[in-house]
Amino acid sequence: MKVCYNITSKCNRNCRYCFKFNREDLTLEENEKVLDNLFKLGVKKISWTGGEPFLYKDLPHLLKKSKEYGIINSVNTNLTTVDEDNLEEKIQNVDQLIISLDFISEDLNEKYGIGKDYYAHVSKLLKKFKQINPNIILQLNTVLFNGNIDFMDEFYDEICKYDIDYWKIIRFLPIRGKAYKEKDSLSITDEQFNEFTKNFKNRKQNFKIIIHGLKEMERKHIIVLSSGKLIYSENGKDEEIKSLI
Ligand code: SF4
Repeated sequence: MKVCYNITSKCNRNCRYCFKFNREDLTLEENEKVLDNLFKLGVKKISWTGGEPFLYKDLPHLLKKSKEYGIINSVNTNLTTVDEDNLEEKIQNVDQLIISLDFISEDLNEKYGIGKDYYAHVSKLLKKFKQINPNIILQLNTVLFNGNIDFMDEFYDEICKYDIDYWKIIRFLPIRGKAYKEKDSLSITDEQFNEFTKNFKNRKQNFKIIIHGLKEMERKHIIVLSSGKLIYSENGKDEEIKSLI
């Protein structure tokens, strides 16, 4: 069983298409209890997300504990707290690193809230991860919306320069938060999405392309909120199951 663990709702960026949950964080002791309970439930893979998961300062400790349980750790990050000095420490015990990247244009990074110089920062670090850990799986995640869909050819050419394993494109889903408020201005049409899929799905490169549309989003996802609540999320509807603390 795989779960998505929102270890914190905090984020240091302000993306207009964000649909994160907003809850208070737990203490380390409480999160250790959540992790124990996930192990007892038979969880085999955790996708650590947020907010920005590395803003939870004890995440490296939880990743180590999770690894000791034999759980596969995937971390979905904006990399903004990672630099060349702390990179090795941060990716210890990470099996898969998923990096959010929606634009290579710094003007668009600024316009849509991720911040100017974001791409320059990601680009510098992308070349380092496999030097430090050759076994780490690297994935870029891109939210596809009407702010970047017209630039995907140049985006694709640019990311082909890196030694990544996956590029996952996720159609903008205005289910909650800021994304919901911006749904009219940021959504793309089915026609645009189908055209994108037709154009990109059979391209041959060194990494695998995964395209997630609304159908994939409708599937049931098991999520642990930063408050310790376990929920099922399906088609934008969230159902609380139980508390793990
Ligand atoms: S989309 Fe990700 S990086 Fe942007 S504000 Fe939301 S959690 Fe932060």
